[in-house]
Amino acid sequence: MNVSMNLSLNNTENAFAYKSNTDLNKAKWLFTVIQNPWIVALGTRLTPMLMKSGLPVNGLIRSTIFNQFVGGETLAESARVTKMLGSYGVQVILDYGVEAKEGDASFDAVTEQFIEAIEFAATQDNVPFVSVKLTGLSSMHLLERLNEAPRLRSGIHDSESDDAAWSKLKERMYAICDVAATHGIGILIDAEETWIQDPIDRLAIELMGVYNKEKVIVYNTYQLYRSDRLRFLELSHKIAAEGHFILGAKLVRGAYMEKERARAEAMGYPSPIQTDKLATDADFDAAVIFCLAHLDNIAIIVASHNEASNLKCAQMMQDKGLPNNHARIHFSQLYGMSDHISFNMASEGYQVSKYLPFGPLQDVIPYLMRRAQENSSVNGQTNRELLLIRQEIARRKAK
Ligand SMILES: Cc1cc2nc3c(=O)[nH]c(=O)nc-3n(C[C@H](O)[C@H](O)[C@H](O)COP(=O)(O)OP(=O)(O)OC[C@H]3O[C@@H](n4cnc5c(N)ncnc54)[C@H](O)[C@@H]3O)c2cc1C
Repeated sequence: MNVSMNLSLNNTENAFAYKSNTDLNKAKWLFTVIQNPWIVALGTRLTPMLMKSGLPVNGLIRSTIFNQFVGGETLAESARVTKMLGSYGVQVILDYGVEAKEGDASFDAVTEQFIEAIEFAATQDNVPFVSVKLTGLSSMHLLERLNEAPRLRSGIHDSESDDAAWSKLKERMYAICDVAATHGIGILIDAEETWIQDPIDRLAIELMGVYNKEKVIVYNTYQLYRSDRLRFLELSHKIAAEGHFILGAKLVRGAYMEKERARAEAMGYPSPIQTDKLATDADFDAAVIFCLAHLDNIAIIVASHNEASNLKCAQMMQDKGLPNNHARIHFSQLYGMSDHISFNMASEGYQVSKYLPFGPLQDVIPYLMRRAQENSSVNGQTNRELLLIRQEIARRKAK
C-alpha cells in the first residue's frame, strides 16, 4: 500500500513538465490578456460576430485560448492530449463541449457523440470517465417544467407531450449508460441551475439504482454552494443504502452563483446559494468528510481548483490510512487550469483527471468564453496561474 503525504502543490517543474518554453510563454500571454475584464467583455461580445463575418480569426483562437483549454475539434485530435496526460499519470474525463441546441435531431446527435466518446474512452487506458450534460439531451423548457411542477415528481404528468419528451430523455440516458456499463466507463452527470436540477437529480438517482449495483458507473454532481446540498448528499446516501447501490458523488462548489442570486432577487424567492464563501467552503469540507466516512458505498470525485480542498482530502486519506490511489477517491481539474494540483497529485500516485472538452471550434466558443470570464479577475485564479507560470519560466532560465 502506498500511504504517504509527501504532497506539495508548489513544484512547478512537475506542473508544467508537459509545456515547452514556447507553450509556457503563450500561456503567460493568454492569462495576462484574459486577466483584463474589459478585454474579456469585449472579446465575449465580438468573437461570435467576427467568426460569422468570415474574418480570419479562427487560426488565432485555435492557437491561443482553444489550445489552452480544449483537447481538439474531434476525438481523434483529443487522443494526442489524452496520451500526453497519460504519460504523466494524469487521467481524462472526456467532455463533449458543445452547448445545448434545441430539437430532437440535435439531442439524438449529441447522444451519439456521447456514445462515441465512451467507445473511444474504452480504447484508451487513462480515460475512466465521460461527462454528460442533460441540457444537451433534452429541452431546457421540459427540464424547467418538470422542475417547477411538484405534482410531476410523483411521476404523474399533466401533459402528454411532456410525458413523451421525458421518456425520450430517459431512453437517451439509458442508451448512454448501457454502453458505458458494457465498457466499464463512468458517466458524470453535470449539475446545472436550480430551476432545472430536480429532474436531473431524479434521473441520476434512478440510473444509479440500475447501473451502480456492483461497479460505480453513474455519478451525480453536488454543488456545495447551494445551502441544501449537504443534506441532499446525505439523503442520496440513505437512498443508495436502502436501494443497495453505490452512490457516485462528484463534489463541486458550483458555477452559476451570480445567475442564481440575480434570478432569486428578480423573482422574489430566497437565494438557494450560501450566504458567503466561508459557508460554501464549510459545506464542501463537510461533504468530503461525509463521503470519506462512507466509502463502503460512496465513490467520490473532488472536482476543485481549490488547493486547500485537495490538500485537506489528501490529509484525511492519510489520517485514515487510505492509499493515495484508492479506487473510490478521485480528484479532477479542468484542462488548462491548476496544473500544479493535477500533475503534483498524479506524481504522488493519487487518481487525478483533467476535464478535457472537445468539439468543433465554433461550438466550443461559449465554453471558452466562460473560462475567460472565470479567469478575468486580478484577485482570482488567474493571479495564481500567472504566478506559477512566471515561477516556472524563471526556474528554467536560472538552470
Ligand atoms: C472537474 C470539474 C467539474 C465541474 N463540474 C461542474 C458541474 O457539473 N456543475 C457546476 O455547477 N460546476 C462545475 N464545476 C465548476 C465548479 O462548480 C466551480 O465553479 C469551480 O471549480 C470553482 O470552484 P473551486 O472549488 O475550484 O474554487 P474556489 O475558488 O475555492 O471557489 C470558487 C467558488 O466558490 C463559490 N463562491 C465564491 N464566492 C462565494 C460567495 N460569496 N458565497 C457563496 N459561495 C461562493 C462559487 O461556487 C465559486 O465558483 C466543475 C469544476 C471542475 C474543476
